[in-house]
Amino acid sequence: MSAPAGPRGYPPSERCRGILDRVREFIADEALPMVEEVEREIGPTAFALEPDGRLAAPMIGLKHRMQQASARAGLYCPHLPAPDGLGLGLVDVFHVQEEVYRHGLRGVQWMLAWTDGPSHLVRHWSAEAREAVLPGFLAGDTNVAFALTEPGAGSDALALTTSARRDGDGWVLDGGKHLITGAPFVQHAQVMARVEGAGRREVTAFLVPMDAPGASRGPVQQTIMADGQTGPLSFDGVRLPPGALIGREGGALDLVFLWINWARSRRGGMCSGLAWHCLDRSVGYTGARRAFGRPISDFGAVAERLSDVYMDWRAMRALALEVLARLEDTGLLDGGPVGAAERRDLSMLKTWCDEALLRVADRAIQVHGGRGLLAETGIERIYRVARNLRIPAGTTEIQRAMIADSLAAGYDGEPV
Ligand SMILES: Cc1cc2nc3c(=O)[nH]c(=O)nc-3n(C[C@H](O)[C@H](O)[C@H](O)COP(=O)(O)OP(=O)(O)OC[C@H]3O[C@@H](n4cnc5c(N)ncnc54)[C@H](O)[C@@H]3O)c2cc1C
Repeated sequence: MSAPAGPRGYPPSERCRGILDRVREFIADEALPMVEEVEREIGPTAFALEPDGRLAAPMIGLKHRMQQASARAGLYCPHLPAPDGLGLGLVDVFHVQEEVYRHGLRGVQWMLAWTDGPSHLVRHWSAEAREAVLPGFLAGDTNVAFALTEPGAGSDALALTTSARRDGDGWVLDGGKHLITGAPFVQHAQVMARVEGAGRREVTAFLVPMDAPGASRGPVQQTIMADGQTGPLSFDGVRLPPGALIGREGGALDLVFLWINWARSRRGGMCSGLAWHCLDRSVGYTGARRAFGRPISDFGAVAERLSDVYMDWRAMRALALEVLARLEDTGLLDGGPVGAAERRDLSMLKTWCDEALLRVADRAIQVHGGRGLLAETGIERIYRVARNLRIPAGTTEIQRAMIADSLAAGYDGEPV
């Protein structure tokens, strides 16, 4: 099924159309053949894990090769300003993500930097880190975690206890993080800590090599996604040079929000692409599958599920595009102050898209019957990922609290 004409005013830009052609070409010529090669080698790739729970080696290999090939093609970081990326705006990035995620979650998605890939934080890395670490990161050779959450500090992130004390012209880092994406394999982590004596809102970020003495990874924390990519990190007297500082001492709260806002803004194109995938698969399957002498799409109850999937897809797409277009010129991802209305819109985008994708994936499984639950069908994996989305980057409860807070400040004059 082709994309509906975007709501008026939100189509991809002329430049983005050219990039979308390159994305389609890359997927057909490089990404899908890489995925298919691994699937031929190991079979269905959902639940492909090592005995210790880490993502299976052929899948980690696929992730890296996908990142690297996409970086060579100049497509890995469409969201970052030049020279680090393509410098696309929020609406254009939506269209690129949608194009990628409509291929489901077999591995093509790794062609776009994920939360363990380059984010806007790299613009705040020191000159030393940009010289030594950034080239390999942008080339897709390495991954870098964003490490904020601790066992005692989740939604209440400022309760973090990871600490840094001055040591000569550098620091010594102590503490632990958990539920960190990429923890089992990242080469570096961007660790949020508090320098001794600093106030609650004075957070400091450090770029920490995971092979530094005192830095270690704990066992995989296996989530509902069963993808072996989440885990704890520990820092026990890790000595850091001055160039490890990201941004300025005590000033990382803005960086935390910069990263979180980026993660939230991504949910539009990701969820829309995955919903589109579910719709295509469901329409195709229910038209071909016959029961009681007719295609199951003829049955009212099945048709109703298909129409619900379609409506959820269109609604998330329209909402996300409208919000992203409105946020386009607000400097949201430039690190400047973000107003209550902008935060509310981003929370609305994230919450609506996450929840709508869960409904979509659930219905897509249902119309596939027993096959919908098979790992090899690929849709149950989308359901598990969709269930996960409602927790990281701010739970749905936190998003709703932010939306409600902003309403108290008034909402007159909003576009309808
Ligand atoms: C797969 C996965 C990957 C992740 N990746 C990363 C990562 O890369 N980096 C990172 O730093 N973190 C990461 N996280 C952590 C994630 O950001 C936290 O799990 C999330 O912020 C919630 O924190 P918590 O788990 O401690 O839950 P809690 O904060 O303890 O929340 C428990 C429940 O209480 C509710 N609650 C808490 N406070 C309020 C409130 N004020 N109002 C209403 N309800 C409230 C929550 O909504 C939730 O329902 C990841 C998590 C998962 C599952």
